[in-house]
Amino acid sequence: MTPDAAGSWDELAARVRMCTACPELTVTRTQVVPGVAPPGVEVLIVGEAPGAREDEAGVPFVGRAGQLLDSLLEEVGLPRDRVAVTNVLKCRPPSNRKPRRLEVERCRPWLRAQIAVLDPVLILALGGTAAEWFAGASARVAMLRAQPLDYEGRALIVSYHPSAAIRFGPRGMPLAALREDLARAAELLESLRRGAR
Ligand code: SF4
Repeated sequence: MTPDAAGSWDELAARVRMCTACPELTVTRTQVVPGVAPPGVEVLIVGEAPGAREDEAGVPFVGRAGQLLDSLLEEVGLPRDRVAVTNVLKCRPPSNRKPRRLEVERCRPWLRAQIAVLDPVLILALGGTAAEWFAGASARVAMLRAQPLDYEGRALIVSYHPSAAIRFGPRGMPLAALREDLARAAELLESLRRGAR
């Protein structure tokens, strides 16, 4: 299976589902989780990798972190059916360990192809792994989240992963930062739309 960007998101997803480039993940995963993109969306949200619930369901962001993300997206007027969701890694690492560098590099062409096919106006990179994917190995969420960035001509906003927001609790900084960054993303999307008119 080759990760070229020809065809639709769903055609690309069908090719991702056949991928066996990571020998360990191919054995331990329940299924590949390519991501979901409702028609006509302008925003792509990228997380780290499927967790246990996502591995079972075949859909990104469906566990507790996904539920939190959904409620925060609703708050800022960007409900789930108006955004595409995927992960840096399309297969669950066993025991939810962090993705290995080699796995990220093997999977990189799939995300690159998804971005090319979807052509989003705005990308939201959530968590350290996604931040590094877009901004390089030295990327740190705390340093990058304050301002909109550029990724190959597209607006990019980096923020905390909702699982960090859960881990640090309702009074923790990651939840407040994520809420703020999603609001910033919604405002930026609106201003990009106005600029395109
Ligand atoms: S993580 Fe990505 S590159 Fe590795 S097997 Fe899954 S789809 Fe293929």
